[in-house]
Amino acid sequence: MAYDFFINLGYLVGAIAFVWGLRLLSSPDTARRGNILAGIGMGLAILSALFTREIAAPSNNYAWILGGMVVGGVVGGFAAKKVKMTDMPQMVSIFNGLGGACAVLLASVELFLMYKGTTAPASNGQLGIILGTVLIGGITFTGSMLAYTKLHGSIWDNTFVLPKHNLINNILLVGLLAFAVYLFILGSAAGTTLGILFLALALIYGASFVIPIGGADMPVVISLLNSFSGLSAAAAGLIYGNNMMLVGGILVGASGTILTVLMCEAMNRSLLNVLIGGFGGGGASAKGADGEQIAKEVSLSDAAIQLFYSQSVVVIPGYGLAVAQAQKIVKEVDDLLSANGVEVRYGIHPVAGRMPGHMNVLLAEADVPYDKLLDLDDANNALKSADFAIIVGANDVVNPAALDDPGSPIYGMPVLEVWNAKHVIVLKRSMNPGYAGIQNPLFFHDKNRMLFGDAKDTMTKLASELKGM
Ligand code: NDP
Repeated sequence: MAYDFFINLGYLVGAIAFVWGLRLLSSPDTARRGNILAGIGMGLAILSALFTREIAAPSNNYAWILGGMVVGGVVGGFAAKKVKMTDMPQMVSIFNGLGGACAVLLASVELFLMYKGTTAPASNGQLGIILGTVLIGGITFTGSMLAYTKLHGSIWDNTFVLPKHNLINNILLVGLLAFAVYLFILGSAAGTTLGILFLALALIYGASFVIPIGGADMPVVISLLNSFSGLSAAAAGLIYGNNMMLVGGILVGASGTILTVLMCEAMNRSLLNVLIGGFGGGGASAKGADGEQIAKEVSLSDAAIQLFYSQSVVVIPGYGLAVAQAQKIVKEVDDLLSANGVEVRYGIHPVAGRMPGHMNVLLAEADVPYDKLLDLDDANNALKSADFAIIVGANDVVNPAALDDPGSPIYGMPVLEVWNAKHVIVLKRSMNPGYAGIQNPLFFHDKNRMLFGDAKDTMTKLASELKGM
């Protein structure tokens, strides 16, 4: 009795550490501590699980378990140390995928042991949970792995899209759900072959569901897969009656769902709309690049003088800031301008970069005060009276086509309306498009001037010009 009490106490303290850790994650000042606390909670949960009666039984598998933990710990630790900030979204996708893989493996083992008669037939409730876990875990695994390749740029959006792909997906999903019901009715009599077919279809559907979703819709898919990984872990917790897995899974599932809703709001889209497609997957704009249009440039010294004597500047960071790792030098330029009385603020688009909160993390790393960061609505208000909008490696999130070109794949997505500022300067290396693969008419706008080059390099030169004034 006392033994079980201590195991459950370990789980309870671990769960409290998770919840408290999540709370601390809500501010950049405390996020690091939150992460460490949640990590300690996870350590405690693993330790408690290792001492449960099932595992500590005389026929225990400690050698296997510890072997797995060492391999996983070394690979995970090495990957976390090595990963570049720009590759974090890919890493998150892999983590989601591995969460799904664990759940689908655990549920499949239980299912096949039952089909082989090694274990007693599961109760109705238990069988339903096992089948649900195979389904969600399988979708999460292959879906996340495909999302990884898309973020990595190794598979482009339309590579494997079939005609009427979304219709095929919907039929596949309905078929899978009907199949699950059939297996549920058959119980342990269904047999291994049908079980394998179900598993294979779940894996195929996961990949097929992510393939047509592309361009600007990727943030929604990633947060959705994140919530699926939590749900599958929670379902696996139900299979084993492990409260800690259940709590951890529910926390991930719930926070992932909230994030998905926020991302949908940020994109001004309903989740159903994203899932059944028709947006982003096209990848090409209705209005291509107009060969006649010429983007005007500004010289570094002119840009420096104009910024130095302006009153207010809104910096719009985007994915290029992360690629160039320009956050610290941007902060230095901010300090130089602020010292001259210029009000400098930052307009943060919710899907800027390649993962939710990407820009907040980068700017926090450079010690930019949090109160200088404006969300989409506040930034759009500030832009109306700003002298300058400086766009540092952003593209899709400042594309006016989202508002005025119904043929554009990003039409309807709220964007930072930088053209409302008196002047606009765009820092990027070329005229190449951003993630959604579409041309940006802002570059040809009357108010806009291009400042070509790597963002860090350009900002460094701008800082030295400002220092000389
Ligand atoms: P974009 O991908 O639209 O544009 C980034 C721009 O940065 C490019 O046009 C590129 O132009 C420029 N760039 C790249 N490297 C450098 C560099 N070293 N120096 C200067 N510029 C550079 O980024 P945004 O942040 O505007 O938009 C994010 C996009 O990513 C949206 O479409 C969003 O939907 C999508 N997305 C977002 C996710 C999220 O969770 N936030 C997840 C997945 C996708 P050039 O090559 O000419 O330099």
